Amino acid sequence: MQLSEKDQQYFYNLEKGLAGEKLFDSITEGILCDCLILNDLLFKHNNTTFQIDSLIVFQDCIYMFEVKNFEGDYFYESERFYKTSNSEVNNPLNQLMRSESLFRQLLQSLRVTIPLHAYVVFINPDFTLYQAPLNKPFLFPTQLNRFIKKLNMVPSKLNKKHKILADQLISLHIQDFSFSSLPSYEYDQLRKGIPCPKCKSFATTSVGRLSVCNACRFEETFEAAVMRNVHEFKLLFPTKKITTNIIHDWCNLVNSKKRINRILEKNLKIVGTHQWAYYE
Ligand SMILES: [Zn+2]
Repeated sequence: MQLSEKDQQYFYNLEKGLAGEKLFDSITEGILCDCLILNDLLFKHNNTTFQIDSLIVFQDCIYMFEVKNFEGDYFYESERFYKTSNSEVNNPLNQLMRSESLFRQLLQSLRVTIPLHAYVVFINPDFTLYQAPLNKPFLFPTQLNRFIKKLNMVPSKLNKKHKILADQLISLHIQDFSFSSLPSYEYDQLRKGIPCPKCKSFATTSVGRLSVCNACRFEETFEAAVMRNVHEFKLLFPTKKITTNIIHDWCNLVNSKKRINRILEKNLKIVGTHQWAYYE
């Protein structure tokens, strides 16, 4: 469906932030010394919720990272962050200092006294910060490789104590979906069809055993395309029953009901019989 401009921007930013975190995760996977890496943590301490994008536990220190996927030109002035268009954005340092302080308190409550180092990582190679201060814990894209190399040299031998700490942190992590505010939607409002997984257009047609995108030429088997749509349907409407009729409508197909039926039968478990049958 068509999202409001505000929602579009909101979800675009979320998606971008997530892509940045994933990129950073793939970089920290290159750290091969003895350490524990915990990603995407959400804690509540003293009734205050805070997030940590990435945490690396070494023998004698812990590193925590706030990952930002800012793109384009920004400038720094009087402890504030601006886009070059002069619009102010939240200074990520404030966010880092907040979560650092809260995490320090949480460690204290666990009676852990390992020193904590906190950084803001700017992951996007197309990011420039004019008037960047020298004395702030910022890691810029051009410094990241060297920084990871440095971490790789940290002498570290973990013991049981560290493992216990990691387990404690994981158990304290909360799954909170109140952060994600979904726009409201109804089945009838949504555009039907099989969107292309690559270019997101609805320009797919079935050609023999394949589903082909007429916009970007992406190909997959028709079965895979239908099942992808079934999973999206399930995600969007967890309480609706999956039937041949509804998936046929959801995929916006003509004349392929038998085919849909065969695909559902093959990939899912049938419950009930005849016109009351649905799939799980
Ligand atoms: Zn496409």
